[in-house]
Amino acid sequence: MSLGLTIADLSNLNRIDAAMQRNDPRGQFARLGMKEVIVADNVLELLPEALARQLVAAGKPASGAVVCVVVDPVRILRAGRDLKADVIAALERTHRVRLVELDDGQDVLHADEPILQAAAKGVLGADAIVSVGGGTITDVAKVASVRSGVPVHVVIQTAASVDGFTDNFSVVLQNGVKKTSLSRWPDAVLADVRTIAEAPPRMTAAGMGEMMSMFCAPGDWYLAAQLGVDTSFTPVLLELLAICGHGIEDWSRGLANGDLGDSEKLTRALAFRGIVTGTGGTTATLSGMEHLFSHMLDMVASQTHTPMSQHGAQVGVGSVIAAAAWDVFCARMQETPVTAQDIAFDLDAQARAARDAFEALDPSGAIGAECEARYRAKLTTLQANWPAVEAFFPNWPQHRQAHDALVFDTAKIVEYLSRAGSAMRFDALVPAPSEDLTRWVIGNCQFMRERFTIADLLYLAGWLDAEGVARIMARVDQVLAAATGVDRAA
Ligand SMILES: [Zn+2]
Repeated sequence: MSLGLTIADLSNLNRIDAAMQRNDPRGQFARLGMKEVIVADNVLELLPEALARQLVAAGKPASGAVVCVVVDPVRILRAGRDLKADVIAALERTHRVRLVELDDGQDVLHADEPILQAAAKGVLGADAIVSVGGGTITDVAKVASVRSGVPVHVVIQTAASVDGFTDNFSVVLQNGVKKTSLSRWPDAVLADVRTIAEAPPRMTAAGMGEMMSMFCAPGDWYLAAQLGVDTSFTPVLLELLAICGHGIEDWSRGLANGDLGDSEKLTRALAFRGIVTGTGGTTATLSGMEHLFSHMLDMVASQTHTPMSQHGAQVGVGSVIAAAAWDVFCARMQETPVTAQDIAFDLDAQARAARDAFEALDPSGAIGAECEARYRAKLTTLQANWPAVEAFFPNWPQHRQAHDALVFDTAKIVEYLSRAGSAMRFDALVPAPSEDLTRWVIGNCQFMRERFTIADLLYLAGWLDAEGVARIMARVDQVLAAATGVDRAA
């Protein structure tokens, strides 16, 4: 099966949509509801026409519309000029423009309920929303558009830090915990490459961290499918991911220097990834143990009321850890191979272990109860498919090979992160978690979600105890030392 698509089809979304509809063996793909993605050096000059097209498509007048420009207070420069002021000036020539600036007094805007309500109120009665900024303001604007019934949403993307611009989800904070929920597709996403290239380097570095999940999560997805826990494994989605990663060997080289051409390629790759998430019917393609690392840190930050680090940066560090976890599992399978019998478990005892793991973090028991339910669901599915587990281990060499064909090895992930100046180890995150917290996160991340990852295999094999976690951390440091020629232990 071949989709016959390339990254250039981003400028022809109908083609992507049609190809996916034609190649949907399990009927799991959603329709692509976004009409345009424009990645260009200067989207300001393209904005008025792009907006007019979407207004007309929504049955609104092409001029004289009420347009809300949704922003946070962060000043965004483009070639030394205030980008938001220029967007407003460009729109005011044709429309009635209202500025909706959302500010919660924090350094980084939080997409929590008061902000979502303020956004929805601010855009009430508008014909269109034009949001300008990064991932959070885009997600807030998507939700505001849905809540207030604003028909048109055009996104001006100013950073390549996440892949959430081009999908129909929003990451919001619910009672302090990050949650990904369905919102809407933007009608058009206009990514301004010059602004993206000039953005603070940590933004692009985070984007590269986020990119790395596509080189480790498919390995977890494969394991979950082989062990009978996940039935969504579809080679078509892997083919789409291959399109996202095409040429990364070359275009990752100039990212740290703000190279325009390479920033454009990263932006396109992330945009394509968003479409895979939005249409694929599963996020397992791009979210395995590396995302668990990030979600666990976010959960701790919200419980302890401490600032969160950037999502993409955490995912990059998590990717190194997840790849190292796989290395350790493979090494231990060589030393003392396990079989299905060795990983058999008592469901109730394990569910209790999941609940107890979060007791110190949340004495109210709410997080523990939530995670216990999710973990119990995962293990129940695993037990129900035990013949698949029994068949897995005798074929270990083949499974190892098939897994490795879907992922980058640890050294390669480190190499790509290093090219973009991305964080590679927990202590490079801002703010950085302590080493103790990092160990706790690695040793307990399997309890957080229904999704099966290498952390589950390690845990059930008895290899995610303190000694097991130490071995994973040591493997990370070993690969980093080999990459930089410096021994951290020295
Ligand atoms: Zn992510």
